[in-house]
Amino acid sequence: MSAAAAEALARRLHGEAFIVDAHTDALLHALRGRDLLARTSQGHVDLPRLLEAGVTLQVFALWAPREAGPAGYLAHALRQVASFWQAVDRSAGRLRPIRSRQELDGLVPGAGVVGGLLSIEGGEILQGSLEMVEIFHRLGVRALGLTWNHRNELADGCLDPEAGGGLTRFGREVVRACEARGWVLDVSHLSERGFWDLMETAQGPVIASHSNAHAVHPHPRNLRDEQLVALAQKGGVVGLNFYPGFLTHEARGTLQDLVRHAVHIAQVIGPEHLGLGSDFDGISQTPEDLPDVTALPRLTAALLEAGFSEEETRGILGGNFRRLFQSVLPVAEEPSL
Ligand SMILES: [Zn+2]
Repeated sequence: MSAAAAEALARRLHGEAFIVDAHTDALLHALRGRDLLARTSQGHVDLPRLLEAGVTLQVFALWAPREAGPAGYLAHALRQVASFWQAVDRSAGRLRPIRSRQELDGLVPGAGVVGGLLSIEGGEILQGSLEMVEIFHRLGVRALGLTWNHRNELADGCLDPEAGGGLTRFGREVVRACEARGWVLDVSHLSERGFWDLMETAQGPVIASHSNAHAVHPHPRNLRDEQLVALAQKGGVVGLNFYPGFLTHEARGTLQDLVRHAVHIAQVIGPEHLGLGSDFDGISQTPEDLPDVTALPRLTAALLEAGFSEEETRGILGGNFRRLFQSVLPVAEEPSL
C-alpha cells in the first residue's frame, strides 16, 4: 500500500475500528496529581488524547514501586483504584468501567467513550492473601500480571536472573482464583520458568499485555519464539510495547523498529495473536515518531505500509484483544463492595 493510501486508511480506522491498548501506567500519574480527564502536554495519555486517537478500550495498570515496600504495595494500588473510580464519576460517561462481556459489548468505536479495564501489575499487591483477589474483583479489577520485574509471593520476575524460579503454590492458587472469576492473566514481566508454569497451570488463554520479540531484540522483557508459539496455541495475544529499550539497541527507537517486532511476531504466530500494549506513561522514552497516544495513526499507517491487510490491521489495533477479553471476562457485572 502506498504511503498516501495507508495514511488515509489509518485515519479512517482511528474513527471506526475497535482500538485496544492493553497497558498504560496513567493511574500512577493520576496519583501524583495529573488530571486524567484534562488534556495536558504531560506524559502520553489522558482521556481527551485517548478520544482523539480513537482508543475504545484502555487497560489501566495498578502498579506499586519497590520503594513502597511490602506494607505500601496494597495502599498504593488502592489509591490508584480510587483515582480511576473518581475519574469515571467525573467523566460524564466518557470513561466507562469494563468488568464483563456485557459491558464490553456496550462499547462502540467512535461514540466518544473510552472503556477502562483495571489490571494489577505485580502480584505483590495481593499481599500473599487469596482474599485480595475477591476484594479487587469487587473493586472492578479484571486482569493480573503475576509479577513485575522481581520475585514476589506468586513467582519470580524476569529481571531476577539469579533466581530463575517459576510459580509458587500460592501463585497457582491465585491463577485458579483469577480464572474462576473471569480475569485475564498476563505474562509480561514474568520469569521464563514462571511463563512455562503458567502455560501449564492456566486453563484459558493468557496474554502478554506489553512485550516484544526476543528474536528481534534480545531483552529479558521480550518473549522468545517458542514462548510466542505456546501463548498463541492457548489462544493468547501479545501487545506490542513501545519502549525503545525493548525495541532496539539504538539509543532512540523508531516506528520502524516497532513494525519489525510486529512483522516478526506475525510471522511466528499470525497477526491474529498481535495487539498493542503501549506502556505509555510507564516509560521514560517513546519512539521519536510516536510521542504520545495521539500519534497512534502513524503506527497504523506504518503497519499497512509494511503489508498488513486492513483486516489484519484491525485485529492488531484491537480486534484480537477484544476477542480475547470477550472470551475470558465474566458474562455480566457482579455486585461490588
Ligand atoms: Zn510493565
